[in-house]
Amino acid sequence: MKLVINSPRGTADIYGEDIKYRDFINNAARTIFKIFNFNELITPAFEYTEVFSRSIGEETDIVQKEMYTFNDKKGRSLTLRPEGTAAVVRAAVEKKMFGSGNLPIKLFYIGNMFRYERPQKGRMREFWQLGVEALGSDNPVLDAEIIWMLNLIFKRLGFKNLVLLVNSIGCLKCRKSFIQEFKKYLEPKKAGLCGDCIKRLKNNPLRIFDCKVGGCAEIAQKGPKISGYLCSSCKTHFKDLTDALSSLSVDYKISDSLVRGFEYYTKTVFEIISNDLESAQNALGGGGRYDNLIGQFGGPELPAIGFAVGIDRTIMLMKDLGIGYGPDTKNIRAYLVSLNDECKGYMLEILRLLRDSGISCDINYTSRSMKAEIKKAEKLEFDIIAFLGEDELKNDSVTIKDLKDFKQYTVSKKEIVGKIFEIAGRI
Ligand code: AMP
Repeated sequence: MKLVINSPRGTADIYGEDIKYRDFINNAARTIFKIFNFNELITPAFEYTEVFSRSIGEETDIVQKEMYTFNDKKGRSLTLRPEGTAAVVRAAVEKKMFGSGNLPIKLFYIGNMFRYERPQKGRMREFWQLGVEALGSDNPVLDAEIIWMLNLIFKRLGFKNLVLLVNSIGCLKCRKSFIQEFKKYLEPKKAGLCGDCIKRLKNNPLRIFDCKVGGCAEIAQKGPKISGYLCSSCKTHFKDLTDALSSLSVDYKISDSLVRGFEYYTKTVFEIISNDLESAQNALGGGGRYDNLIGQFGGPELPAIGFAVGIDRTIMLMKDLGIGYGPDTKNIRAYLVSLNDECKGYMLEILRLLRDSGISCDINYTSRSMKAEIKKAEKLEFDIIAFLGEDELKNDSVTIKDLKDFKQYTVSKKEIVGKIFEIAGRI
């Protein structure tokens, strides 16, 4: 008898042109990860079940309905990873990556994920994601950088008609007061909600915003706005983030109803959507801040932020829109150091100039002495340091130190990119 077997429902064999698209996307993303100073982490395709159930949230659809969970031969409960963040945090805590002086830790991953969903165009049971996690800083500039990076990946791929949505869902305290009011608003409207959302109303009402059934999301959107319940520190954080996005010339739209599906998110959440995709599957990638997760895993109480991009969905949309695949660019490493807080806006301007030009570069998140920064830059093997201080701010200039021969140059903002390429010998 002949054995005739198909691949399991919701999975795909990837070959031919799709491999070319994947290579193009992964290479473009890897180039950008390098420019933003992120390093790769590969975690196992399965973890102990608690890694996901406790972090993503027992009340979420993913944990309740979509996980591939099984016992191994010794009866331990394992789960095929449904997402990347929990595993990255587990690995960072287990491997004690949080040394003093190296925060935030910037990691990226590319891997397959598994969710038992109803397969349809753009939604599969095994799919691929690439993502980043920056662990150990709550600086809103970092949020802005992460959002900028997400945007830049899609720009590099050739997308034009994309919308970047951002919102703040506040810290656990602000969310509590919002949820109280939100429940009060929904109680009398219960009859309009689907069965799942009636359950969600009790345990996890924010998920109602994400419901794809009937008019649930619409009812939620007409209710109170979480922005009205943010504490002053979360409000300031969000304002600083949006200011930084504006300094970086990243176009964004504030979306009051964006909450996203995982329970671990705090403060900033964001999503990049395409208006060319059917509404239910129009999100290409998204992410948010998760300031309590590292502590929950037994690590230090450190804040963090990350995003994930769906590779399969990105390929699908590129093909639909007639976007092709092509080659990618350069590689030079710079460390941008601001010597005082007044330079914050100026630093972002220079950072954008450098990264837009394909120069791999990172910044100091806390100002220290010039000597300490030089030491750090040498340890992290940067090629040059670009310093910004009082004089540089006044004169619209930058001081560049070549770490190979310790020569120093002060150049105008207009000349900086050219000078860096000259030093690196790669004009
Ligand atoms: P999430 O991890 O749910 O925030 O999803 C991040 C991105 O992964 C989404 O924007 C999609 O592009 C992609 N994605 C999520 N679930 C699936 C799925 N079942 N099939 C294909 N892509 C998915």
